[in-house]
Amino acid sequence: MTLANGTVLTGLGVGLNSAVGTVLRVAAHATLPAWSKTNNDATAEADTLRVAIASVAADLDRLGVKAGGTSAEIFEALKMLLEDDELFEVAGENLADGWSAAAAFGMAVDTFAELLGGDAAFEERVADLQDLSKRVQAHIAGVSMTLELPETGTIVLVGDDFSPADTAQFTPAVIGVITIKGGPTSHTSIICRSRSIPAVVSVTEASALATGDEVLVDPVGDRVVVGGNVSLATQAIQFVAVSDEPIIDVRSNIGTLSDAQAAAKTGANGVGLFRTELLYLSEKTQPSVEQQTTSYSAILAAAPAGPIVVRTIDAGSDKPVPFLNMGQEENPSLGVRGYRLIHEHRSFIEDQLKSLEAARQATGREVWVMAPMIATVQEAQDFCDLARSIGKFKVGIMVETPSISVLVSDLKGIVDFVSIGTNDLSQYLFAADRMNPALGTLLTPWQPGLIRTLARIADAGRAAGISVGVCGESASDPTFAVVLAGLGISSVSASPSQVDVVRTALSSVDVAKAKNVANRVLEATSPETAKAAALSALAE
Ligand code: PEP
Ligand code: MG
Repeated sequence: MTLANGTVLTGLGVGLNSAVGTVLRVAAHATLPAWSKTNNDATAEADTLRVAIASVAADLDRLGVKAGGTSAEIFEALKMLLEDDELFEVAGENLADGWSAAAAFGMAVDTFAELLGGDAAFEERVADLQDLSKRVQAHIAGVSMTLELPETGTIVLVGDDFSPADTAQFTPAVIGVITIKGGPTSHTSIICRSRSIPAVVSVTEASALATGDEVLVDPVGDRVVVGGNVSLATQAIQFVAVSDEPIIDVRSNIGTLSDAQAAAKTGANGVGLFRTELLYLSEKTQPSVEQQTTSYSAILAAAPAGPIVVRTIDAGSDKPVPFLNMGQEENPSLGVRGYRLIHEHRSFIEDQLKSLEAARQATGREVWVMAPMIATVQEAQDFCDLARSIGKFKVGIMVETPSISVLVSDLKGIVDFVSIGTNDLSQYLFAADRMNPALGTLLTPWQPGLIRTLARIADAGRAAGISVGVCGESASDPTFAVVLAGLGISSVSASPSQVDVVRTALSSVDVAKAKNVANRVLEATSPETAKAAALSALAE
């Protein structure tokens, strides 16, 4: 069925420029053979698997060199996932049970994916792992995984979602990208943002687009318009810095040493969120205080100058950390996660704080600590008492639950700061699973329900003398970062690839203008009108 000219398909925009081009539908990769047992010797199958892994690793090296920049770092990280010893060990157990090399590896990846599934930060890794698994299996089966894209022309790629290896094969002809699945934090979004390719993701109706259709990719308007009339593009804003310093602090989100190193190459003023659980996803035994001190010290030393806000472990049954030995829960995002681990695993949180204090002393860095998933004032009080009894930190909490969002004034005298996690706060405010691509429109930061909640938190924080930061993905959107500053938020923390663009946006306006933008946005009653209000107030 061909869509009529002017048909609008909505999604979530990535980037500030629009593009008009011809749709190229990319089919899902060729089907791989079903998993089976084999009569071959397990050692021979292990050799086949080793060769396939080495060959996929070499492909990743080649793709990384070709892509450069952010993509090269992603390929390096992927290679580490692929060559993980524990993954090979689990595959080895499957080989010993008689499974073929392809099946043994695919099953091992599934085992790991199950352990990691359920949270945005890990969902990306799960998708990466599954993509690597397919590549290894394809290599064994002799199936091609290349995209075969033309080198010239103006094509808009349309597909379910694109893996890092897919995006590395984008040719100069790819001037726009549309995905049916994927969200604001998918690889397609990250890569398109860093390579300035206009994209709209989570366009559930994009499956109706056919190769040859002309389309306008309009990321600022969060939409695709069939017919490709460029004059319909929503006005893009070009932020031009008018001062050397942004109107509020811009920090970086990190999870690993390489993130800290990437953040140090940006203009970030310190770290606004260090997700410590990312270090422990495959640890079977609780790391000692000495081991933790070593890894935290390296990360603190590498991090950009400025304060470093460290979050104590945010694991739960949806992102299990093996040594914390968590059971299955009916409803993991509403279960025992984040600070709630204090009841069963107090010693680990205490060890984290002790290690952070030792790392603070060893590096001389300014360390702030905060607890995730706080729902009550008592929890905040208990965490602050504990942290202050262990180290010389500024102490705070994350605001991620609706409950604590209305209790910020009661935190006066208890916390030094709060940091709003808009990813989870949106999930709980809207009762919308943050991993469900069908709910992307409820989870956009432009929802008036979220924006007005943020305004109330900022006001309560100001009245109570508590500084309020935002470290969820919403702070990585430069336009939204201006709104946050205008609402009275005192710092934002973005992913390393977005720090500089957010800094530029926040250096392009003065406080009065940001306030005006925020006030106009506060009047809006829908995400569309909220975003339009911001853009028009910025253009004035
Ligand atoms: C958030 O919820 O916004 C946040 C920053 O924490 P995470 O994404 O790690 O849950
Ligand atoms: Mg969170």
